[in-house]
Amino acid sequence: MSPVLLSADPDLLEALRAVLGPVRCAAALGQLACADEQVVLVDLGLRTGDPAELVREVRRARPGASLVALLGEGSSSTPAALREAGADRVLGLPLHAALLRDTVTEALELPTFEGDPRILRDLAGVAERGELRLHYQPRVDAESGAARGFEALMRWEHPELGLVSPGLFIPLAEATGEIVAMGAWALREACRQVAAWDALGLPRLHVAVNLSPLQFRGEGPVPAVEAALASAGLPADRLELEFTESLMAHDANAVIRHLQSLKALGTRLSIDDFGTGYSSLSYLRHFPVDALKIDKAFVDDLTRDTHASAIVTAVVVLGQSLSLGVVAEGVETERQAAFLRVLGVDEIQGYLYSRPLPAEEVPGYLSRTPISASAS
Ligand code: C2E
Ligand code: MG
Ligand code: MG
Repeated sequence: MSPVLLSADPDLLEALRAVLGPVRCAAALGQLACADEQVVLVDLGLRTGDPAELVREVRRARPGASLVALLGEGSSSTPAALREAGADRVLGLPLHAALLRDTVTEALELPTFEGDPRILRDLAGVAERGELRLHYQPRVDAESGAARGFEALMRWEHPELGLVSPGLFIPLAEATGEIVAMGAWALREACRQVAAWDALGLPRLHVAVNLSPLQFRGEGPVPAVEAALASAGLPADRLELEFTESLMAHDANAVIRHLQSLKALGTRLSIDDFGTGYSSLSYLRHFPVDALKIDKAFVDDLTRDTHASAIVTAVVVLGQSLSLGVVAEGVETERQAAFLRVLGVDEIQGYLYSRPLPAEEVPGYLSRTPISASAS
């Protein structure tokens, strides 16, 4: 959930931005965007008027929002009164900057962040500043090893830190909502790059781009996908979109509508990290998906743990009976690949065949590798 700080005090919002990085702020109730966001009311002590009344106003306007109130010292109200007025949680607002950051991080349920503070500080606007890159990891035919496509994986070329991996910044970008702009950039860049390779006469492989659950909020991913395809002049059937089962934790009906629209555009859809998330399989019947991607965790244990091979077998059978492709990712050894072939997996992605490659290394890779007949 992407949080919004609500405070009438611009200096306080500025101070919070300085310690927190790219958190959205609003000065008034009217500036809040969607109905179910997490709203954090800051500085209820210094505001003139009754803090409980402000909580009531926000609650009336945003019945579905999660409301956290940060109560400053000297407030005329009490935690009990604020909860009574509709706040879900009430925390004290400390004056010291470091404590302020910890408290607000907790209030916003931002992931605790052990990495370099510059990652959090500089994340806002990263797509607009041109610091994001895509690396392309080949997906190959399990039987023949011939290339079928790529997955586009985001990297951040930080001016001081160098290449930062998505494991470090995607969770933060999801917590702050920044991922929506970054994801739209990834769609545009992947489509542009693949169209540029087409123009060079390289084999016409498909490209898979990851979508965050946050991109399914509001108007959903369709406009960004359409814009990316149109500006590159790329046919929709060359684009695959990967999303995870966690998407179903949100408004399932809206998600299914968006997926159907993406399918109607002609893109392929796959479920990433399959088997690690939402446990109900019933949603699969309603998802217009083309492929399941088996998570690396199961592949890792495949050759030493009978449970892992039982799970992979079950996913393959499930995929085949629903006429879905099955892709295994994180394949590092020939033994794992041999096992997966026997189990009937269609495509393999992993260091065994190739690491994710910077775009400029892709033409060389394609010149050395067999190309699947499914590419044109
Ligand atoms: P993912 O989509 O499941 O991508 C697969 C990850 O496994 C990638 O990590 C890839 O480099 C790694 N991998 C592939 N084969 C092997 C292998 O044989 N061994 C090992 N050890 N690792 C392997 P990466 O690039 O660090 O990306 C991590 C995650 O970040 C991705 O997992 C995806 O969830 C997220 N991500 C990356 N790019 C984007 C993006 O553009 N948008 C969104 N929303 N998420 C992204
Ligand atoms: Mg993926
Ligand atoms: Mg995955």
